[in-house]
Amino acid sequence: MGAVQGLERPPFVIRAQMITPLDAGGSSCLADGLLEVGADGRILRVEPWPADSPGAPESTAVDLRPMVALPGLVDLHAHLPQLPNAGRGGGLDLLTWLERYIFPLERDFDAAAAERLAPQFYRSLAAAGTTTALLYGAVYEASLDACFAAAEEHGVRVVLGKVMMDRLRYDATIGDTEVLDASLAQSQRLIERWHGRDDGRLQYAVTPRFAVSCSAEMLRESAALARATGAYWQTHLAEDRDEIEQVARLFPDALDYTDVYDRAGGLGPRSIVAHAVHLSAREIARLAETGTRICHCPSSNLFLASGAMPLARYLEAGLVVGLGSDVAGGPELSVFSVMRAGAYTQSGLRTMLGETRPLLRPLDWLRLATLDGARALGLEARIGTLEAGKEADLIVVDPRLTEPTPGNPTDDASDIVSRLMYRTRADMVAGAWVRGRRLAAA
Ligand SMILES: [Zn+2]
Repeated sequence: MGAVQGLERPPFVIRAQMITPLDAGGSSCLADGLLEVGADGRILRVEPWPADSPGAPESTAVDLRPMVALPGLVDLHAHLPQLPNAGRGGGLDLLTWLERYIFPLERDFDAAAAERLAPQFYRSLAAAGTTTALLYGAVYEASLDACFAAAEEHGVRVVLGKVMMDRLRYDATIGDTEVLDASLAQSQRLIERWHGRDDGRLQYAVTPRFAVSCSAEMLRESAALARATGAYWQTHLAEDRDEIEQVARLFPDALDYTDVYDRAGGLGPRSIVAHAVHLSAREIARLAETGTRICHCPSSNLFLASGAMPLARYLEAGLVVGLGSDVAGGPELSVFSVMRAGAYTQSGLRTMLGETRPLLRPLDWLRLATLDGARALGLEARIGTLEAGKEADLIVVDPRLTEPTPGNPTDDASDIVSRLMYRTRADMVAGAWVRGRRLAAA
């Protein structure tokens, strides 16, 4: 048991169990499968292990059984500078927690701090099974450069952005009248330097923090910058009741919280809004109409007592929803633990609030954590499943570590994923690859 050895770079062939959602719908589960990665880092084929295979490349396959290969997980929302405070401040509300645990950490997140933390952050992502992440940095341009440089070096796939704030802000180095222009200019330079680097492995997201800390002008200008450059646009939406009340006071003309971003030109298929816990029917319809992507962060929503997002209702409305750890709002980077929190949230909605839509099953959660996360980023043609033609972003997990007693395996794919999400172990991810290149982990 333990980490997979070797397989540092493509080409290679592995033999393992394979569980993956499929682009065409449904899932593929191979009890004994072959996955071949070409020299260019793409998946050449995924198929049942041939009964009798005299020739290459099967003869060179690395046999990983009984380990399971899955698509790499997509974390659609985490704050890189906040990792050191993950798990702290339980029992506080969002705005108090931000003031006490988050803004002090981000205020000190200069380039030197980023050089120390970012490599560790990416290794922790890989150890948790995450190969793609949409991230928030802090506010300083040089610290973003350090975060991007560390991602370039590490090999993880990231979309990252400098946090923009012109209200409720912690950066004392810039005056109030200059902060909007400075923040836009810094974001623009970072886009020029990093957006699309390494054939799109590194991308930029223009990142106004949320409506409480941004003026209408900053929201509008940030959305215009994203449109003009092809970068993503990300922010937080309707996470917490107190936050929603503050937004209503700050933007009295807006119909609701979603309308604040709509008026700024922020909605659309290149925009990802995190949380979206408390939405009216109008807001749900408008987000669906504009194709805006939703990031569901259930472990964070439970940790900060923000609320229970009605996922089944959103899916029924046609929204594209992926999963986010929201570290440090969420206490753990593991997207498996986010799947578990999401499932418990859905159980809670059903048992306590009368939700009648059917519960999602483990393979549905795996799809949200992989293919749907990729769809949220418009990357579904490249990643999100184990299918021929995709880039080889994959993980291998050891299901033995999730057995309640040793020697108690299951060969049912749904049950394997069920144990991975309900009995998550920090050491169960034995390897993670992006484009067939092994990611340093731990
Ligand atoms: Zn967040």
